[in-house]
Amino acid sequence: MLIEVRGLKKYFPVRRSWSDILKRRKQKFVKAVNDLNFTIEENEVFCLAGESGCGKSTTGRLLVRLLEPTEGQVLFEGKNIYDVPKKEFKEYRRKMQIIFQDPYESLNPRMTIYDLVEEPLRIHGVRSEEERFDMVYQALKDVGLEPPEDFMIRYPHQLSGGQRQRVAIARALILNPKFVVADEPVSMLDVSIRAGILKLMLDLKEKYGLTYLFITHDLSVAYHMCDRLAIMYLGKIVELGPADSVILDPKHPYTKALVEAVPKGQVDYRRKLKEVPIKGDVPSPIDLPSGCIFHPRCVEAFEPCDKEEPELVEVEEGRFVACHLYR
Ligand code: SF4
Repeated sequence: MLIEVRGLKKYFPVRRSWSDILKRRKQKFVKAVNDLNFTIEENEVFCLAGESGCGKSTTGRLLVRLLEPTEGQVLFEGKNIYDVPKKEFKEYRRKMQIIFQDPYESLNPRMTIYDLVEEPLRIHGVRSEEERFDMVYQALKDVGLEPPEDFMIRYPHQLSGGQRQRVAIARALILNPKFVVADEPVSMLDVSIRAGILKLMLDLKEKYGLTYLFITHDLSVAYHMCDRLAIMYLGKIVELGPADSVILDPKHPYTKALVEAVPKGQVDYRRKLKEVPIKGDVPSPIDLPSGCIFHPRCVEAFEPCDKEEPELVEVEEGRFVACHLYR
């Protein structure tokens, strides 16, 4: 096992108005990540999926310590990363990288492609200029930007969206990390070039023995890309298991609704799902519903659902569901 997440929580305080302070109203929190427990095996593609605002990106940032948690632990190779003093964290940063959704935002427009890909090497003390050049050359080749010398001298605005994301991947992989968080890496790209980037990521995983936490809102991408899939809703995991089995045979009513929303033809359905509507909008993550957090929207809710919170339990080998229907 490479990563173990234990009781991970991230609550963001809601800014209080003067009137809230004067009237001594209680501080409120957005519960973005609310008690997550899961593991990621070495060389696995573990996927987090769910609607926008469900906490998947916050989880990704917590796992590479771009955010500090409110509570909980993330064990990387058996050591809690939050216990490592910040000054000594550089060595871990080298092993844990992140690829962001928007390569426009994540790449400095004033730097050449060479400087962008070389920068992490300089930060991490690779001193020899020749060595840095060779590594940048190889990284650009690895991500399919060939011939590398043609791309090294360009700026991000001179590249297409797909090429920019390839630069972001080269930048993330140049330090030879073990674990990479890919936060919606293809959602800003044209559909026609998404498959090429996903295939590249899988090829690089095999070549360098990488482990991915892959974040997506698109179940068809998760189906083709991931080994295991966790479905998140309002900061919690409601279903977890092998990606194909969760998508082809969803158990939680929320997963069923998400699967129903996948355009037909993108996933081979083993069986036709019946129409599973979902009621209303996502509730506020500040005032979470009592009992099962999904109960205000669930068409299958019954007696205990608004009072008792279901635990994530194993219902089949490797399949976990948080729903009273599977007690
Ligand atoms: Fe629906 Fe109840 Fe299951 Fe929650 S516990 S998903 S409300 S059936």
